[in-house]
Amino acid sequence: MYDAVIIGAGLAGLATSLRLRKRGLEVLVLEKNSYPGGKMHQYESKGYRFDTGPSLFTMPEYVNEIYELFDEDYRNYYDYIKHTESGRYFFEDGKQLTFYTDINALKKEISEKLDLNPDPVEDYLNRSAIKYNNIGSIFLDTAIHKTTEIPWGRVFKNTPLFMRSGLIKSLNQLNVKLLKDEKLVQIFNRHATYNGSNPFQASGILSMIPHLEQNSGTFFPKEGMKSIAEGLYKLSKSKGVHFKFNQNISNCSKDTVTGRYTTQAEKPYESKQLICAIDHLNFYKNILNDQKLYKKYKKQERSSSAIVFYWGIEKTFSQLGLHNIFFSKDYYKEFEQIFETKIIPENATVYIHISSKLNPHDAPDGCENWFVMINVPAGTEVDETTKQKVRKAIVQKIGNTLNCDIEKHIVTEKIWTPKLIEDDTGSYSGALYGASSNKKLSAISRHPNFSRKYNNLFFCGGTVHPGGGIPLVLKSASIVDKLVENDR
Ligand SMILES: Cc1cc2nc3c(=O)[nH]c(=O)nc-3n(C[C@H](O)[C@H](O)[C@H](O)COP(=O)(O)OP(=O)(O)OC[C@H]3O[C@@H](n4cnc5c(N)ncnc54)[C@H](O)[C@@H]3O)c2cc1C
Repeated sequence: MYDAVIIGAGLAGLATSLRLRKRGLEVLVLEKNSYPGGKMHQYESKGYRFDTGPSLFTMPEYVNEIYELFDEDYRNYYDYIKHTESGRYFFEDGKQLTFYTDINALKKEISEKLDLNPDPVEDYLNRSAIKYNNIGSIFLDTAIHKTTEIPWGRVFKNTPLFMRSGLIKSLNQLNVKLLKDEKLVQIFNRHATYNGSNPFQASGILSMIPHLEQNSGTFFPKEGMKSIAEGLYKLSKSKGVHFKFNQNISNCSKDTVTGRYTTQAEKPYESKQLICAIDHLNFYKNILNDQKLYKKYKKQERSSSAIVFYWGIEKTFSQLGLHNIFFSKDYYKEFEQIFETKIIPENATVYIHISSKLNPHDAPDGCENWFVMINVPAGTEVDETTKQKVRKAIVQKIGNTLNCDIEKHIVTEKIWTPKLIEDDTGSYSGALYGASSNKKLSAISRHPNFSRKYNNLFFCGGTVHPGGGIPLVLKSASIVDKLVENDR
């Protein structure tokens, strides 16, 4: 019998396994794939290496604190550098600008490229820091669905700031008010996509997100994003966490007398605590078979999904950096199509991540590895005709801006669609971040980190509180660790 069984060896499952192990628990992680990391995986073809999922790395200290728990130096497991840019932005009218993480370099760039007074951006980032440090940390570090866990003193102290934070405005409304210029507004609206949401609906409280990449910094793992998960896996193994791969869990039950869980894998595994580190909708629907809770949480709108092309490009482009954003002309229409009409946007914003810019080993000499992504509605079906249509539009859009026939330079290709994202990672409808944050109070309506119905059942990962993305997923592991300890 194990103290805890964790379903899912993505970042959340790995981080939680280590935290519980540190408390002396016997932990078993059950994973359906043959490898750990979940969305944080890689793909290789013809000398090109691609990270398949996340590409933007912020708040490395949340990873490193797990190594510190064991008095280990993270550099023995993975390493990273701080990058000077958070992204290069390309507009359809031909204007381009680089967002430097150094505020003076950024202000100079805004003055020169957009011919604007950059002070409102500095002011915005200062406000962003205050919101993150005072309000964000209350939500992100706490199991907010348990009143006994909430730091009420800090909540009351920060209530005035909370009311002024833009909570009841949309992110777009707040950005228009604070930044005015439409290009700056579009750049700062994009932060709603960091949790798969619509900036024209989601709360202005999301304006704390740029604090992470602009003030705290943007980082680059030297051996790729997958090294973050690989490092944690190596540490877990060395500290005695047990793993079983190729275990597609489809059943678990709770003994009403002993209170123990039995998770059915290649054989039944008993545990006192059960941790769901997979999408909670698929957990309720397919594993716990609690259709009532499945239906309840399914009502929440899903975050966006994505279509990703992994292109080996036999050429280099000096205009491009590590993160590149080719904006659509009409951002409102793009999100209206993703969340209201629920179709693939006709003119989608294209994101290109090129890790070979900082790690030349990721592509052959004179070549680049392009991770090319657009946001689409969760559950979008992509047949061959749709794929060709989307591909053609992206090739044309990038080609127009870079003045080059991109098609001629694609030497290897793979595509990830919402259906394949669901197949590979178990994310419901391929949604990247669970429920969307399109309602003003979304931050408090995400699935809790514990079950109100089943004792000793806990939830971590990108689909539950506090949210998706690497920093928040790691926070969820830390919250679950405290909840498990309190229960014991
Ligand atoms: C294309 C893409 C781009 C992204 N970009 C960024 C980014 O730039 N920055 C950022 O911070 N975040 C980004 N994210 C989000 C980030 O990747 C996720 O929030 C995070 O990796 C989620 O980790 P997780 O452990 O919660 O889930 P997952 O990584 O999905 O792990 C869940 C694990 O559970 C396993 N599993 C599922 N069902 C079962 C079952 N029935 N039995 C056993 N095992 C099961 C899966 O195989 C998987 O290994 C991106 C995601 C995607 C897909």
